[in-house]
Amino acid sequence: MRWENLSPDSEHSRADTALFGAEAVTTRTFDTPEFRGITFHEIRARSIVNRVPGASRMPFEWTVNPYRGCSHACVYCFARKTHSYLDLDTGLGFDSQIVVKVNAPELLRHRLASRSWHGEHIAMGTNVDCYQRAEGRYRLMPGIIEALRDHANPFSILTKGTLILRDLPLLRQAADVTDVGVSVSVGFTDEELWRTVEPGTPAPGRRLDVVRAFTDAGIGCGVLMAPVIPFLGDRPEQLRATVRAIAASGATSVTPLVLHLRPGAREWFMSWLAEHHPHLVARYGRLYAEGAYAPRWYQRRITRQVHDLAREYGIGPDRAEARRRVPAPAPEEPEAELPTQLTLL
Ligand code: SF4
Repeated sequence: MRWENLSPDSEHSRADTALFGAEAVTTRTFDTPEFRGITFHEIRARSIVNRVPGASRMPFEWTVNPYRGCSHACVYCFARKTHSYLDLDTGLGFDSQIVVKVNAPELLRHRLASRSWHGEHIAMGTNVDCYQRAEGRYRLMPGIIEALRDHANPFSILTKGTLILRDLPLLRQAADVTDVGVSVSVGFTDEELWRTVEPGTPAPGRRLDVVRAFTDAGIGCGVLMAPVIPFLGDRPEQLRATVRAIAASGATSVTPLVLHLRPGAREWFMSWLAEHHPHLVARYGRLYAEGAYAPRWYQRRITRQVHDLAREYGIGPDRAEARRRVPAPAPEEPEAELPTQLTLL
């Protein structure tokens, strides 16, 4: 097992790992309420800029992910599977065993300065959230943004974390010299659903405050309305309330995405469903009988409803006209059944 020589309970234990080509792994825990129960594995990674497999179908080709695992703990998170590559648990382990690439800013600066780099767009927050709680302690994003700013390298960030507001001045500086795209993920505004399905995230309303703050600062901010959760967050009045709140936040675009359940996420989500909504287990079995994605007819229905609501509430060309056009960040994944990007610019 790759991590067997770590002792997660210890305050400072060190071990070699071949996985990241890391020089060393330091395992830390912090006895503060914010980080209680979370173990951080600090590594010095060998590289930080990743090429997206099958990038031709994605709106970006390169990504930077300073963390693995995510304390936002969304039960549906498609990135859970990636924890199994580290021989870490994809359930609670994904939420509480966080890998921190402590040398991410210096690696990125080095890469951006290399002759082989040609200033391509870099997407962040596409695998796990770069503004999860760990970022409050490790502060990797300021160094990353500074490197991108200094090289005038275009980039985008997708997040559920309100911590991004800390870096608003830096992002403003970067936006003065290059294209900067910011998107916030808000799949629904139902607070009861949020508490159980996204227990480690800031409330949807606080995320929309982020959208407002960026809009006020002159940086257009889109909303990835993801995931729309079948039978729990897809009633017409729920969709309406969510799109209305997104419009009120000043978002430049809304892109709906229906829940998908790939291996790793599927097992964890279904066990949560069995505990919280057992009457829906059979319906989910039928809706996702073909695999990880809901049927196309369902995806199209949601897309059409959100599209109509967005038009009704005025999210569209007039609002976005004055904004800079940048690729809308989206989750990093195979796009087999992703609906057409509905970026209402
Ligand atoms: S915030 Fe994103 S990366 Fe983090 S658990 Fe939720 S879906 Fe996964």
